[in-house]
Amino acid sequence: MFEWFGKVNFSPYTKVTDFAQYLKDGRLMGSKCKTCGSTSFPPRADCDKCMSGEFEFFEMSGKARLHTYTKIVAAPTGFEDVAPYIVGVADLEEGGRALAWIGETIKEEEIKIGMELQVVPQIFEELEEIKVYYSLEKPGTTWVKTNSAR
Ligand SMILES: [Zn+2]
Repeated sequence: MFEWFGKVNFSPYTKVTDFAQYLKDGRLMGSKCKTCGSTSFPPRADCDKCMSGEFEFFEMSGKARLHTYTKIVAAPTGFEDVAPYIVGVADLEEGGRALAWIGETIKEEEIKIGMELQVVPQIFEELEEIKVYYSLEKPGTTWVKTNSAR
């Protein structure tokens, strides 16, 4: 599942694998250090401020602002069929940064650095696996949240 994370976002998610399960439920989670309270997105098990390995998940609103973006015309292997596409980096209101596709609710000509965004959990259903990622959408974009046992 992890090679599909955000399609463009390859990070070591050891210890934070529940992140994918939450995303599947439509919940965008960050991590909060139990020692110093520092928050991160994507979640990280080891605090970059105090090196503590103790963290807890907290649900984020996904409100964000566009920090930068780039149009990918020559896509890497495996992504050729979807190019061209636009990838953005968004600063989340509650801390952290999301690197993700700019979704269908935003037209290319509307994209501006500093614009408000909503990070939205997404699911690809292909083959037998469920793949999760998130995209950057217009503020006010809604999606379905569920609760599954974990
Ligand atoms: Zn810490």
